[in-house]
Amino acid sequence: MGEKSSLMFERAKKYIPGGVNSPVRAFGSVGGTPPFIKKAHGAYITDVDGGEYLDYVCSWGPMILGHAPQAVIEAVNRVANDGTSFGAPTELEVELAGKVVEVVPSIELVRMVSSGTEATMSAIRLARGYTKRDRIIKFSGCYHGHVDSLLVQAGSGVMTFGIPGIPGIPAELAKLTVSLPYNNLEKVSEVLEKEGDSIAAVILEPVAANMGVVLPRADFLKGLRELTARHGVVLIFDEVISGFRVALGGAQEYYGVTPDLTCMGKIIGGGLPVGAYGGKKEIMECISPVGPVYQAGTLSGNPLAMAAGLATINALQASGLYDDLDKKGAYLEKGLQEAAAKSGVTATINRIGSIMTVFFTGTPVTDYESAKTSDTGKYAKYFHNMLDNGVNLAPSQFEACFVSVAHSYDDLDRTIRVAEKALAGL
Ligand SMILES: *Cc1c(COP(=O)(O)O)cnc(C)c1O
Repeated sequence: MGEKSSLMFERAKKYIPGGVNSPVRAFGSVGGTPPFIKKAHGAYITDVDGGEYLDYVCSWGPMILGHAPQAVIEAVNRVANDGTSFGAPTELEVELAGKVVEVVPSIELVRMVSSGTEATMSAIRLARGYTKRDRIIKFSGCYHGHVDSLLVQAGSGVMTFGIPGIPGIPAELAKLTVSLPYNNLEKVSEVLEKEGDSIAAVILEPVAANMGVVLPRADFLKGLRELTARHGVVLIFDEVISGFRVALGGAQEYYGVTPDLTCMGKIIGGGLPVGAYGGKKEIMECISPVGPVYQAGTLSGNPLAMAAGLATINALQASGLYDDLDKKGAYLEKGLQEAAAKSGVTATINRIGSIMTVFFTGTPVTDYESAKTSDTGKYAKYFHNMLDNGVNLAPSQFEACFVSVAHSYDDLDRTIRVAEKALAGL
C-alpha cells in the first residue's frame, strides 16, 4: 500500500479502535493496510497516494449510480445552502416517503431513520409491540446491522472474523433469537408449528448478501409468507442491500412476495446516512405518535440525506436501467467464470442483477454452512492480486461485489483481464 495510507493507518489507530469506524474496513481477514480514500468519481476511487482503483465496493451498495453522480451532488449542494437540519417536518421527507410508497409494493407507510441498523432495530421492536410476542426467527449468515437481538449467527464482519457469541449481548436477550439455516423451510415450519404463538417476527434478507450473495430457493420466500401468515407472525424483509438494487421495488417486486414490513438503507440515502422501515398501515400505525411503540431520531429525515435519496431514486426510475445493470452483471459473471476455468481455479459464482460473489469452493452455496466451505486464504490472495492491479473488491470473501451504472464494458473487460492474471497466480 502507498506510503501516505500506511502512515495514516498508523495515526488512525492512535485515535480510533483498530483505526476504522467499521470493522471490515481494517483488512483484518485479507491482511495488509487499507488504502485511505481521497475522492471518487463514477466507477473509480482514488486514494491519498494517488492510486486509482476500479471500485466494486461502491460504499457497500449505496453508490448504484457510481460515485459523485451529478444529479445527487447538485441536489445536496442546493439543499445545504438553505440549512442542514431543523428538527421539524420538511417537504423533502414527504417527497421521499411518497416515492418509497410508490415504488416498493408492500409499503403503505414509511418512517425514515439514519441507518440500516436503526431500521431493523425499530422494525423488530414494532413487530414485538404489534404481536405482543418476544421471540424472533432469523437466518444464519444474514446480517441485519449491529442490533443486539440480530447479532446471533450473523453474516458480514461477524462471519468474516468468526466471532461465536458476542460479548456485551446479554444471554437472556440472545435467547429470544432463534437462528435457522437459510433456504430451509422445513426448519421454520417445525419451529412455528411447535412455538409459533411466541414468535413475533421472521426477519431475513430476501436475497442474502452478507455471507456473500446467496439466492433464495424457488419456494423459500413464498413458503415463509404462507407460514408466517398462518401463525400470525410478522414477516420482515431486510432489503437494505436488495432494495432498489435487484429491482426498483426490491426483492419483493422481483420475486412477487409481499412482506408485512420492509427495512431499507444504503441506496435509499444515495451515499448519505439514511435508513427506513415501512409496511402495512395497520402495523405501522402502532408507532408513536399514532401508537404506543416509541421510536424517534434527532436527524431522522435530514434534508441533505432526503435530497440525496430522492435524486438517486429519481435517476433509478429511468427506463431500462435495471436491464442494463443485469446485462453488465451477467457479462462480468461470464468473464470471471471463464477466467476461473482457464486458470483451473474451483469457484462458485452466485449472482442476481448487479450483485455477485465469487466463492472459492466447488460446493453450491445456498446457506451459511456451504458459504463457509470457501477457501478464505485463496480469496485474500485473489483480493490483493486484484487490488495491486487497480481493482478494488470487498476485503472479505463473505461480501458482495457491486456493479454500478457507471461501470462501462471497457471497465468490465479490464476487470476480467486482471482477474485472469490474479486467478492464475493463486
Ligand atoms: C448494511 C446492512 C445493514 C445495516 O445497515 P447500516 O446502515 O450499516 O447500519 C442491515 N441489513 C443489511 C441486509 C445490510 O446489508
